[in-house]
Amino acid sequence: MDLGVKPGDDFYSYASGTWLKNNPVPAKETRWGSFNVLRDFNINAVKTILTETAQLKNAAPGSLEKRVGDFYAAGMDSVTIDKLGYSPIKADLQKAASVKNVKEVLDQAATMRTSGIAAPLFGFYVGQDRKNPNNMVPQLSQGGTTLPDRDYYLKNDARSTKIQQAYKNYITQLFTLTGVSQAAAQKNAETIFNLEKKMAEAQMSRVEMRDPYKTYNKFAIADFTKTTPTLDWKGLLTKMKVTGQDTVLVNSSKFFTDLNSLLTSTPVADWKTYLQWNVLKSAAPHLSTPFVNANFAYTQALTGQKIQTPRWQRMSSQTDGTIGELLGQLYVKKHFKPEAKARMEELISNLVKAYEIRIKNLDWMSPVTKEKALAKLHAFTPKIAYPNKWKNYEGLEIKRNTYFQNVRNAGVWAYNDMVSQLGKPVDRTKWGMTAPTVNAYYNPVMNEIVFPAGILQFPFFDPNADDAVNYGGIGAVIGHEISHGFDDSGSQYDKDGTLRNWWTPEDLTRFKEKATALQKQFDAYTVLDTIHVNGKLTLGENIGDLGGLNAAYEAFKMTKQGKSNEKIEGFTPDQRFFLAWAQVWRGNILPESAAQQIITDPHSPGEYRTIGAPVNMDAWYQAFDVKPGDKLYKKPADRIKIW
Ligand SMILES: [Zn+2]
Repeated sequence: MDLGVKPGDDFYSYASGTWLKNNPVPAKETRWGSFNVLRDFNINAVKTILTETAQLKNAAPGSLEKRVGDFYAAGMDSVTIDKLGYSPIKADLQKAASVKNVKEVLDQAATMRTSGIAAPLFGFYVGQDRKNPNNMVPQLSQGGTTLPDRDYYLKNDARSTKIQQAYKNYITQLFTLTGVSQAAAQKNAETIFNLEKKMAEAQMSRVEMRDPYKTYNKFAIADFTKTTPTLDWKGLLTKMKVTGQDTVLVNSSKFFTDLNSLLTSTPVADWKTYLQWNVLKSAAPHLSTPFVNANFAYTQALTGQKIQTPRWQRMSSQTDGTIGELLGQLYVKKHFKPEAKARMEELISNLVKAYEIRIKNLDWMSPVTKEKALAKLHAFTPKIAYPNKWKNYEGLEIKRNTYFQNVRNAGVWAYNDMVSQLGKPVDRTKWGMTAPTVNAYYNPVMNEIVFPAGILQFPFFDPNADDAVNYGGIGAVIGHEISHGFDDSGSQYDKDGTLRNWWTPEDLTRFKEKATALQKQFDAYTVLDTIHVNGKLTLGENIGDLGGLNAAYEAFKMTKQGKSNEKIEGFTPDQRFFLAWAQVWRGNILPESAAQQIITDPHSPGEYRTIGAPVNMDAWYQAFDVKPGDKLYKKPADRIKIW
């Protein structure tokens, strides 16, 4: 803490100032805060598991340990990886270069997708139909680009042009590493950038993408082909292993009609280069040192990271990202205590109770809508720590000396696993995050809140800490995830996960007014020189925090400590609650990463998450004696109360 600061002036520094001063971002990281400290702890725990598993002499063939150990060992074998250079992708590059017309471009793109090579041109996945969530449907989305957002192609300020140049250098370098002359590689870079820029122009913004109705466009496959005649979807989807389907969900029809025009107006030679680039960029992090270094130089321009993440850390993340549910089984065996699950169940049930009270007491919502909101609240499915049914990657071949092929095989396996869900009942046991992940999520079509084992640790959760710490930490996280079901996007889904309005028009208008006020509050936060928080992009997360912290506080006040005034280490229970919340969000971030976060991340920066909700809560004013004249002071009438 920094007790020299007045909490009402700068609650962030008051709660975390000394820590922030003493904990700069390490050279191999882009940000450093509570999340990162716990992630660092977890990745080291994972490293130990992986190192030990890789060294086992007697692991049975096909066993969990053997497969996980071999995957990691192969990734750590930099001698073999370096010796191979770019030979693992030579054949793919040749195939990409052999296309002769637009039809072959599309066929090759489909093959690349099903072979785990790359996903060029557009996005594709199989997921629940949000107007009929018991059905799995093929879904097409805008895509085709490489930079983290369309803005990077379209903006011309100094920060953006510097990144554009770094991206072009990256393209040039990867091509020259495969024997292309410098001049030809530079030309390729221009070709690719211009082509991707056109795709970026066709894309919707992230804010537009948050609208679940606007992004819901259902087509009969034959009708969709009529709007994009060059993309023969019947043939294309068959090549993409999608069979027995007559409809498709499209998130942006405009993107695909523009792509259709682009396909016919662009020379095939350019598409050839584009396909080769897709092979190169997907493979680069898994190839020899020169490729990895080129990839890092590009990452550096985007994030500001000073030195490369060590190989063990990259391979630990890669193992988690590729065969995470095998690794997860070993992780929870060693690091998750069943008592924590019971305590979490209790916390969740207390949060739901508090939320119920709050919904019942809302002064702006009619009884009819309240009834629907309560029905939704009681229909939430919580998932805690790890899946009841683990994915075992049946049939995925992993060998100890073929790292690149292992990654490829996993890509193919994941693709086949995804398309195999078509025509089957929705698998409700599935998880969207792995067990060691330090995060949590709400999934509106499942109406579920999910908390991986990784986040169920200090500073979020500690069975030995006082309630103030747990309610201000994991309690607020639980409340946050519940609130996603009631944020500007999640509130458009009903209790069964169907995208369907359950609000009266008057209640919806009042809700939107409150949301707009919160949007304005966040729009006013300046992050870096001219960069502001995007109130619209971050609205869902900010409603999540505001609803979540209020519900957590309500639940905390039901505990013995919440009802008492007994100080611990000089702080009242309420002060400890808000300090726990603040310290969860403390963190330093490199300016380059902060700039990227504002464009791409729907979460507000930690500093503004720390203060964004408390400044709307009367209890925070009382706890820290915040008065008119203090910098963070808001008049009682201006304090935003949503959930
Ligand atoms: Zn969230």
